[in-house]
Amino acid sequence: ADIYGPSRKNPLGRDYSLVEVRGRAAKAVALAAGERETAGAIVEGRLVPAQAEPVTSPADRSRVIGYAATADAADIDRAVAVARKAQPAWDRLGGGGRAMVLRAMGDALEAEMDALIALLSLEAGKTLNDGVAEVREAIDFCRYYADLAERQFGAPTPLPGPVGETNQLQLAGRGVFACISPWNFPLAIFTGQIAAALAAGNAVLAKPAEQTPLIAARAVRLFHKAGLEPALLALLSGEGATVGGVIVNHPGIDGVAFTGGTETAWAINRRLAARNGPIIPFIAETGGLNGMFVDTTALKEQVVDDVILSAFGSAGQRCSALRLLFVPHDSADELVATLKGAMDALVIGDPADPSTDVGPVIDAEAKAALVAHRERLSREATILHECVTPEGGDFFAPLMAEIPAADFLEREVFGPILHVVRYDPADLSKVAGRLAARGYGLTLGIHSRIERFAEEVRELVPAGNVYVNRSIIGAVVGVQPFGGEGLSGTGPKAGGPHALLRYATERALSVNI
Ligand code: GLU
Repeated sequence: ADIYGPSRKNPLGRDYSLVEVRGRAAKAVALAAGERETAGAIVEGRLVPAQAEPVTSPADRSRVIGYAATADAADIDRAVAVARKAQPAWDRLGGGGRAMVLRAMGDALEAEMDALIALLSLEAGKTLNDGVAEVREAIDFCRYYADLAERQFGAPTPLPGPVGETNQLQLAGRGVFACISPWNFPLAIFTGQIAAALAAGNAVLAKPAEQTPLIAARAVRLFHKAGLEPALLALLSGEGATVGGVIVNHPGIDGVAFTGGTETAWAINRRLAARNGPIIPFIAETGGLNGMFVDTTALKEQVVDDVILSAFGSAGQRCSALRLLFVPHDSADELVATLKGAMDALVIGDPADPSTDVGPVIDAEAKAALVAHRERLSREATILHECVTPEGGDFFAPLMAEIPAADFLEREVFGPILHVVRYDPADLSKVAGRLAARGYGLTLGIHSRIERFAEEVRELVPAGNVYVNRSIIGAVVGVQPFGGEGLSGTGPKAGGPHALLRYATERALSVNI
């Protein structure tokens, strides 16, 4: 079936090799830094006045870029109450009417692209090119889910039955969805979850990551400006353990969508399981321990490009990022030497500078976890190469280490650290089996010219997104529906044709005439 709608036009990117485009970017960054946006609780379209703390940039902690307050229990109660009241009319509006609002949001994001990229760079430490990709993804989510809303939430589907009886199936919104999103895609995943929940006919309580409240506030204001009734979308900023916890425990929510770490997903799942009330869906997209398997037929230059991008792009802070590179003994030395050279060519520094390849990690806590892992690698494994860490800010420079086998890593290491495992091709099933045994199943890379090799690796390592002879990051909405299995999440895949179904309830109607 055709899963693309007529409204899907790809938003334009930005070419930072052009002087005037670079000039516009620099102006947008200066403007965004001067604006000092305020975030907190936005209920019925209004920011609730509260004591706000400064938000600083991960590239330079002395730089205050805005202020954010924490939502309290009263804000959450009020947001739930107004959302519950507004939701039935939004549901009755149908997929077509909701699609119009989502498309207006896509256009609003596109019109503000430079400002959004600037804010992503300041608040999340994203490079400009990562910012471009992220804003485009957010736009794609709005337009793609608008198409799905139109197709799947229009007229009921007629079903067969005996003469004299009509049968039909209708999808409907569930009520109020809590959308809890991560700092690593503070615009794309934030907007994507909200767009999906809205498309399916729900109202939304959005809890952004505590590290990135400003870009979230900007997106919520844009939704309202694009024509969404304010009561249908509230922003509830704050810490996961407190604000997130209160939202998840609230009897007035009808579903939870979460993207973040596996441990947090377990915690939410436990809370939802302890509720005595309606049994509500939980959509979780979590981490990965992602491997790439290279064989001796792979094209070395292509492998190097794809490894560098997959492991160190976005400072390794993607759940899709490459963590373990499996290389056959025969080609390992040569490949490692070329990777070292390519690492040396990476520019690490100010994310708002168009020539930067790798920006900072998100905060001091993230950096400390990487530093601790580095210490373990230097004690128990072999550090093969490291880039130079810039001064100031929360930087952690790309690092490559050799480990004996996949089970050296218990869990996902979230940052620019690549682990190399040498293997004997005769032991492929054992080596790959040790990766699969970790229980994740998000992305998997294969570099080979031999189809049978690719098939074998795919059978050995189950994963939601498999990439052959290319990088393993940057899934495109509608093209590579994204999401994993096992410890990596529940599905349905974001940006895929089934994305909206778990946000909805199904109603069958049978009429005897
Ligand atoms: N969808 C992103 C990608 O394909 C990763 C999303 C995430 O890190 O949560 O790279």
